[in-house]
Amino acid sequence: MVSYKELGLVNTREMFKKAVAGGYAIPAFNFNNMEQLQAIIMAAAETKSPVILQVSKGARNYANATLLRYMAEGAVAYAKELGWEHPQICLHLDHGDSFELCKNCVDMGFSSVMIDASALPYEENIALSKKVADYAHQYDVTVEAELGVLAGVEDEVSAEQSHYTRPEEVIDFATRTGCDSLAISVGTSHGAYKFKPEQCTRDPKTGKLVPPPLAFDVLHEIEKKLPGFPIVLHGSSSVPQEYVDMCNKYGGNLPNAIGIPEEQLREAAKSAVCKINIDSDSRLAMTAAIRKHLAENPSHFDPRQYLKPAREEMKKMYIHKIVNVLGSDGKAE
Ligand SMILES: [Zn+2]
Repeated sequence: MVSYKELGLVNTREMFKKAVAGGYAIPAFNFNNMEQLQAIIMAAAETKSPVILQVSKGARNYANATLLRYMAEGAVAYAKELGWEHPQICLHLDHGDSFELCKNCVDMGFSSVMIDASALPYEENIALSKKVADYAHQYDVTVEAELGVLAGVEDEVSAEQSHYTRPEEVIDFATRTGCDSLAISVGTSHGAYKFKPEQCTRDPKTGKLVPPPLAFDVLHEIEKKLPGFPIVLHGSSSVPQEYVDMCNKYGGNLPNAIGIPEEQLREAAKSAVCKINIDSDSRLAMTAAIRKHLAENPSHFDPRQYLKPAREEMKKMYIHKIVNVLGSDGKAE
């Protein structure tokens, strides 16, 4: 058993309290390799933004659970080395699908876990989420639970169709599970193909697809039911067109990749939404930069040659999100 406190990590309690009061959101960036982690920490240290390092079950399988946990510990030391005196870094399990997985993460130094039992019937979702919360809280680890279903594909999590969170259920759910934050479904979606073209309209000027707007009415109703309670948005990449175009220009094939417009996320960040999950945008930035570099430099074969510009591109993207979308810069001096 290792406590996250020994690793210099923090849970989400204080972060979220300040974010809700201050009208901004904490970035939750997924990582599964060193370059992503370096880029996240560089961006957070440079902007003095609290940050949530998210690890999915798929990432743990890909990179190795032990290695990832030491990488997170190393991230705290690295942040200090970069001159960030009091780094606020949380290590969070994304989409935990069982009590055992959540327990294992709590026991291995995670400061926060998500139990996603949203695919189960309501009462079973409550029972499993409560079981995880009861265990995690013994170690002061915070717990995110989910109500409602997001469409899209993300590692092992996938659903054909979304259904919005029902505001009439949130008080009962939050009270009975004891969760510290609630992931809701209000029109965001996992992956780089969040909407089918037929769900979108077309901008008459640019001819580009415009996705359907988020259900702010549902979000505001939830806020009214649970004043001040931390709300989480999953699937909130904006799928920047410049990266999609760059991928496609240099040999990629990502037709009609589409995300959530940043203006809408900016608006959500000002509400009770205090954690915004971004994964696909990092994947796109990395892949676009690597494709471009290799296409322009066919003789390069040292991975550092193409991973360095990829890391730079991700860092630039993370800073942009922190400063221009979430507003969390300067909140962890
Ligand atoms: Zn998610």
